[in-house]
Amino acid sequence: MEDKENSQSGRNPKRRHLRNRRVNAMEYWQKGVLDDVPAKERWSREFRDPRLKQIKAPELNMPEALQVHGLVLNVHRRTCIVRIDGEAQEQVRAIYRATAIEELGEFPAVGDRVVVGQSTEDGDYYLLRVLPRTSALQRPGTRGRSHQQLTQAANIDQVVIVCSVAQPEFNYGFADRFLLAAATSNLSLIMVLNKMDLVDEIPAHILDFAEIVQGLIPVSCENGQGMDKLQKALIGKSSVFSGQSGVGKSSLVNILVPDAELLTGEVRSKDGKGRHTTTSSSLFDLPQGGVVIDTPGIRALGLVDYEAIDLARSFPGFFPDGIFTCKFNDCLHLEEPGCAVQAAIEKDEIPLQRWLSYERILNSDSL
Ligand code: GDP
Ligand code: ZN
Repeated sequence: MEDKENSQSGRNPKRRHLRNRRVNAMEYWQKGVLDDVPAKERWSREFRDPRLKQIKAPELNMPEALQVHGLVLNVHRRTCIVRIDGEAQEQVRAIYRATAIEELGEFPAVGDRVVVGQSTEDGDYYLLRVLPRTSALQRPGTRGRSHQQLTQAANIDQVVIVCSVAQPEFNYGFADRFLLAAATSNLSLIMVLNKMDLVDEIPAHILDFAEIVQGLIPVSCENGQGMDKLQKALIGKSSVFSGQSGVGKSSLVNILVPDAELLTGEVRSKDGKGRHTTTSSSLFDLPQGGVVIDTPGIRALGLVDYEAIDLARSFPGFFPDGIFTCKFNDCLHLEEPGCAVQAAIEKDEIPLQRWLSYERILNSDSL
């Protein structure tokens, strides 16, 4: 009876219990319940079904000889793509196990160094451990609630935000949100101003950012200007690229990484179908050394659980040396007396644009 059922669904009965145990680990992680409720449920389930017990320990059935180190290229909800260290550069799909995730310590992110094991039982690769990170770009969240600070990319040296000077218009709010995310993660930030072929010079209101970012690089994918400078800034580093749709991020990555073959906004005339749907890896090697991480998820960055006072204290450009100098500790720089930010605006030390951008983020729903 059971055999019939299995043959109908075309599934290997031996592997069915393993399949059931593949959880949407990211969901658990985001909810922050990974360590309590589901674990308890798993325990009782394992107790009733001794077969499940066999894979309780993630390293069981995985002899050390079959454990290897690698780099995470791409992250999905139940698996991730790992490039195994070594000459062959083999890429494998590594599965998360519920129990393994519990012991991983971290949910994997693009750029993570990990240990994977090949099971002697089914030949599949499993993610065993995420190795300690040197850095991480995190979506800002309330301090102390680490489960909600989902890591967007790991082991990175810098954040590159791609903006356009025109078509679409430069977006102050997006740039500021990104500056905040980078500041929260203690990462330096390079701002790339694309589509310079469309203007004569950098618009004055964008130049304000030159003071705040670690590098402001005007470029054009159309005529190639500024590319050498950008390439130089990326050599030997791991850089996360982000940018709003349409700014030319894909065009840029395609120029920097010739074999990336990312899809761009232009309809491909060859097959007439426009965008083709192959999902390519998120981590690319630069020919001159270094890597580019292109994570689409970073496009929509919300400041989840960011407190107003945190924003007031850490908004890019307000307190360049990191010292809060307003009279009141909880100053939101609105109309409070003794506000250092308002004073600086009056003296033209902080452009009004920056304050308007701050006010927009302060009043936005996602704060
Ligand atoms: P993405 O959405 O940020 O990945 O942007 P795409 O790379 O798909 O580019 C969006 C559009 O902008 C495409 O039509 C590109 O041809 C165009 N584009 C990209 N870079 C430049 C540039 O430097 N100058 C001009 N004029 N257009 C560009
Ligand atoms: Zn103030």
